[in-house]
Amino acid sequence: MTDKLTNSFGRPVADDQNTITAGPEGPALLQDTHLLDKLAHFDRERIPERVVHAKGAGAYGYFEVTADVTRYTKAAFLSEVGKRTDLFVRFSTVGGEKGSADSERDPRGFAVKFYTEDGNYEMVGNNTPVFFIRDPLKFPDFIHTQKRNPATNLKDPDMFWDFLSLTPESLHQVLILFSDRGTPKTYRHMNGYTSHTYLWYTDTDRYWIKLHFKTDQGNETLTASEAAALASSDPDQATRDLNASIAAGNYPSWTVNVQIMNEADAADYRYDPFDITKVWPHADYPLIPFGKMVLNRNPENYFAEVEQAAFSPGSFVPGIGPSPDKMLQGRLFSYPDTHRHRLGTNHALIPVNQPKGTMARTYERDGAMRTDDNQGGGPNYYPNTFGGPVPDPGAAEPGLPVTGSAGRFEYVHPNDDYEQPRALFADVMTDTDRSHLIDNIAGHLGGAQRRIQLREAALFYRVHPDLGNGVAAAIGLDAAEVARLAALDQEALVEATR
Ligand code: NDP
Repeated sequence: MTDKLTNSFGRPVADDQNTITAGPEGPALLQDTHLLDKLAHFDRERIPERVVHAKGAGAYGYFEVTADVTRYTKAAFLSEVGKRTDLFVRFSTVGGEKGSADSERDPRGFAVKFYTEDGNYEMVGNNTPVFFIRDPLKFPDFIHTQKRNPATNLKDPDMFWDFLSLTPESLHQVLILFSDRGTPKTYRHMNGYTSHTYLWYTDTDRYWIKLHFKTDQGNETLTASEAAALASSDPDQATRDLNASIAAGNYPSWTVNVQIMNEADAADYRYDPFDITKVWPHADYPLIPFGKMVLNRNPENYFAEVEQAAFSPGSFVPGIGPSPDKMLQGRLFSYPDTHRHRLGTNHALIPVNQPKGTMARTYERDGAMRTDDNQGGGPNYYPNTFGGPVPDPGAAEPGLPVTGSAGRFEYVHPNDDYEQPRALFADVMTDTDRSHLIDNIAGHLGGAQRRIQLREAALFYRVHPDLGNGVAAAIGLDAAEVARLAALDQEALVEATR
């Protein structure tokens, strides 16, 4: 039997093709409430797109524990080898608008929501192990430079490179972004990283950790020309690829690894372990595989499940917590704040965001779009003697010892912004990687003003003379001038290129 059409309150609709008019050729009448409701709803279909990570694709799947990590964390979903936890993943580009091309050069978001028995554990990672900046106070400025010029509404290489060349801590991420890893072939063919350092803890011990999701499909990338061709021929190519491969039963998977640092080692480590512009070299902290993530189910409705998916890096479960990483601390606020703006204060009630392994039992009440029973007649205050939910001291996180006066402090390891990018360029990249990197940088930096080109090329020279010279040659700068500028201190370099 065919379903009968109704309005949104269930009233049958007799005719959905002809507006009520005064006679066959007369004007429309205000009493056509079906028309009014239909148009009014249509007018309100769009919600604000995310300021960053606007274009994305999502899928459901599971996480399976493959090795025992109970020595390091008491997280219940990691308590047993073989244990499975349902999850939802959203992949995305960062800077582009909701309709932008999937193949753009950009970091890729890699957000995972684990529906555990202790509530949702959420990770908001990227396909890169590091980030452009290490202080959240710089974040809005940085993102503005990746978006559009306020006067022309055009992408602007001057803004892009002006900011980056004034921010040498960005170099590590810039090298990854402008290598071919900045244009992954699909969402299936890239790694994911927590990037931030997090806390794992047991009842007695604390550890600093980083997670690495290594693609089982193999790392595959696009060249700049392949990416540009796809941007016009199939701008939704990565979204299509994820959906089609899951629909065909070709389920993508990732091997999940952890790097573990003893809490006591953090103070003396040669890098600041909470600086997101740094990795922990594998020789210092090897990857320990402990899980598998498999994606095996497509969403049924994109808006309901992907556009409304809300991830928060502050959604922890007992056994996992934050680190003092300043960028993470900023994101702990910014993500849920964005959801409150885009989706409303009750965004946790949207089905994709609800916990699945347990029920939320809070004293929060009311608010726009309260779509559940609002906790019925239960008490709405704590403490109470009417049987309301009570805190569980077992869920307490061990204290973090801190000292010092409150203040705005400059980074305490000032001269190490070049070392890890140098290791990437000189020791990890192949000759082909290096040559693509230089071409990719030239293709973008070539559009900026000469003084900005010189400043950024000087930073590249400090990473490695071959990189500085290669970029200089590719965009027609005088290599001797670049070398001279690179030898200045950063303040003098900025003065010389103002
Ligand atoms: P290793 O030689 O042990 O590992 C090199 C790492 O680099 C691998 O994880 C590899 O990823 C990754 N890689 C290869 N090509 C690129 C690229 N174009 N862009 C980004 N990553 C790439 O190195 P170390 O641990 O001693 O670190 C050396 C440098 O490697 C670092 O300075 C950093 O730039 C980079 N790196 C290090 C990571 C870490 O956590 N230690 C993680 C990622 C990069 P894969 O295995 O997937 O091929």
